[in-house]
This record gives sequence, structure tokens and C-alpha cells, in this order.
Amino acid sequence: MELLIKGGTVVNAQERCEADVLVRDGVIEEVGRHLAAPGAEVVDASGLLVLPGAIDAHTHLEFPFNGTASADDYFAGTRAAACGGVTMVFDFVTQRKGQGIREAVAPRDALCAPKACVDYSFHVALTDLTPQVLAEFSDAAAAGLPSFKLYMVYKRDGLMMNDADIVAALRRSKETGTLIAVHAENPDVIDRNIDTFRAEGKLSPWYHYLSRPEPVEAEADIRAIHWAKSLDAPLYIVHLANAEGMQAVRDAVNAGYTIYAETCPQYLHFTSEVYKRPDGRNFVCSPPMKGQASQDALWKGLQEGYIKTVATDHCPFTQAQKDWGKDDFTKIPNGCMGVENLYPYLLDAANRGRISFEKAVEVASRNPAQIFGCTKKGAILPGKDADIVLYDPHHPFTVSVSNMHSDCDYTIWEGLELSGYIRSTYARGRLVYHDGDFLGEAGYGRFVPCAPRKH
Ligand SMILES: [Zn+2]
Repeated sequence: MELLIKGGTVVNAQERCEADVLVRDGVIEEVGRHLAAPGAEVVDASGLLVLPGAIDAHTHLEFPFNGTASADDYFAGTRAAACGGVTMVFDFVTQRKGQGIREAVAPRDALCAPKACVDYSFHVALTDLTPQVLAEFSDAAAAGLPSFKLYMVYKRDGLMMNDADIVAALRRSKETGTLIAVHAENPDVIDRNIDTFRAEGKLSPWYHYLSRPEPVEAEADIRAIHWAKSLDAPLYIVHLANAEGMQAVRDAVNAGYTIYAETCPQYLHFTSEVYKRPDGRNFVCSPPMKGQASQDALWKGLQEGYIKTVATDHCPFTQAQKDWGKDDFTKIPNGCMGVENLYPYLLDAANRGRISFEKAVEVASRNPAQIFGCTKKGAILPGKDADIVLYDPHHPFTVSVSNMHSDCDYTIWEGLELSGYIRSTYARGRLVYHDGDFLGEAGYGRFVPCAPRKH
């Protein structure tokens, strides 16, 4: 089956051009002027931008938590993704003690496959770095799973990896073409702060921020970068949210090291002031939103290319779930929503001139595709999957829980006014979203085996 998208402006990470896009059997066949394809379904894209679908490199769907799960299962989460122009998600699988890497992924893949509406892959959060698991890096990479995350926090939850683990993983990643990501915060300082606030009865969401303020994150960023530099190993820092860490990334990159920084729309848009709001608990995530200076540094880092990816850390919990921490911020499930807001948010920033459209495509599509080895994604070019977003820069849109496609019963983005919006999303050539309506189906999304890095 053929699809011909005519008369739009194609925007890739490097450049834009007026071009038609011809799709055959889910793959982009040709990009050029005045294409013709008798019998093809023709879509008029005049006045629209034709963009590669976004890749959300950081989601937690159907995330098990305290005997329940995050509000969006694999179906609802990927439905929301499709409606926000995200045509591939990376989900995090947590390795349980004693489990192998592929052993940890298999049951999650079995759960995801029949529900996924867009393509997906996994990062594995390693919590038990045995010699067997280190040895398995190469087989995991061969199976299309070349990226691992280490928590430098959550010590009391048994998830924390210490510096020796980080060094061992980084060293092994170099041998196997895999990539180590870190959630960087200092656990001991956080835990002491929490104990102190508890003893003093300081239990509102504001103390979530005060228990893990800027230096708590920066110290761990700097420590992780130190170890990566010592081995000249690549490192990916998830959800960077503070100015001092941003500076450390900048310095390391300028010194020639491969340090990738990811941030999230919530850190670009909100500050720690949200924790003083009556609905402050809805914004509780880790790391927390920081002060204005950090937000300014993140925008500068994004504009100047030191932020390599923007992803969401999508992990919504319902109001009832958030209420578990009504009287104690330490009991609030951590996580915010955003998979449907990521691309519209960045494209709005481009529409308003804060970044370019090319930059939005770079950090939301091209870079995650390149960094994580999604060789068929990330650009509107012949041979790539026909993951295509049509964006109308003249269609204002106000985000509300009523026009989102998540299963969560509120959104932290309520009332956000966007200057343009997504018209349509195609996932491998199939229309999955158009003008407010989800048109995809569960089970359409496929596992994407990612390519290991070249040594
Ligand atoms: Zn996360």
C-alpha cells in the first residue's frame, strides 16, 4: 500500500525542504519534489510540517509500584504516545535480584507486545550486577538490548548501584558496545534529609524538593561523569535537572568526552515553586523540579547542544494513588505524565522561536535514534520507517485532561497553551492519530531491536 504526503515542509535534524514523501509498505521510499504515484492515497500537507515521529527514550508504563501500577498500561501509554506524535517509546524494565537481563525483559515484552500501539524497546535498570550479568552484556546487546540504567539512588529500596558497580558497568559497556545510563542523585544525603524532616513533622510536598535540592543531584552527576571520564566510556545521564550538573556535562563534552544529557519537559517548564501549590503532590517526581537558575541553564544547554535528548520519564499516578502521600511526601508515588506532551511542547518552543524546528527534531527524534541504535528511525529519509508527524504551526491547542489520551485522571500540563499542534501521526505508514482521535490499535507496535554502539 502506498501513501503520498504532498506539499508539506519536511524538517529533519539538519535541514528543512519543501518536499513530498512517498511511503510504501510502511517504509519511506522517496523524498522529493513533485512526486507522483498513481493509485497511492494522497494526503495534502500544504501549510504543514512533515516531521519524523518522536522517540520517547524514557517511559515507565504499567510500572509496578506498591502492589499496584502506574496509571498508564502499555496500551494507554502508547495510545497517548501516538496522539502526541511519539512513534516509539523506550520502557524501563527493572531487573530483580538474581535475574538475568533477558530473563527480566521477557515477561515485560510478553505483557507489552499485545498492547503496544507504537513501536517500543527497553532499557534495563540493573539492580544486581553479578559477574553473570556483566558477562551477559554482550548477549543482551546481540538481542537488541544494548542500554542499561543504574540507579545511584533508592538505597533503602535496594535499587542503588554503588561506585564500584558503576565502574564495572562502564568498563564492560566499552567492551560490548553498550551504553550505561545513570539516575544521578546522592542517596545518603536524601535519606538523612528525609529522616530530619520526618522528625520535625515537615511532610508537605515542598519538603520533597528540599530533601533532594540542586547539590544532591549535582554531586552524583559530577561523580558519574568522573568515573566515565576515568575510563573514557560513554555515559548517558537521564533526566538532568540542575545547573551545576549541566555545567559538568558541558565541561566534559568540551574536553572531548562522550557524555549525553537528557532532560524532560517538566524541568524546562516548571520550577520547584510547584511544590507549594495545593496540587503540589501531582508534581512529585525524582529528581524534583529545581529553581529558576537550573531551568535557565537547561534551556541554554538545549539551545547550545549539550542537552542531547528530551524525554519524559512518563510515569503517571492517579489522584487516588498520589493521595497515599496526603500527609507524608515520602509516601507519594513518584512520577509525572508527559508522553503526549513532549513533541507538542518542543514544537511550540520552536514555533515561538526559542529553539528551531530542526532542534526539536534533533532532541526528540534523531538523537535518541542515533544514541540508542534505532537505525530505521529518526529522520524523513528513504529507507527509514514511515513514522511521520504532520504538524500544523497555526493550530492553537490548550492541553486539558479531557483532550489527552492517557488513563490518568488529571494532567500536570492542564491549561498549557500551545501555538500549534499535531494534525496526524503515522506509525510505519499507518494513520494512528488524526485531529483529536486515536486511530491505532493494540498490538500494532513492534519490539525494535537496537544496534550496539560501534567501538
Ligand atoms: Zn525514570
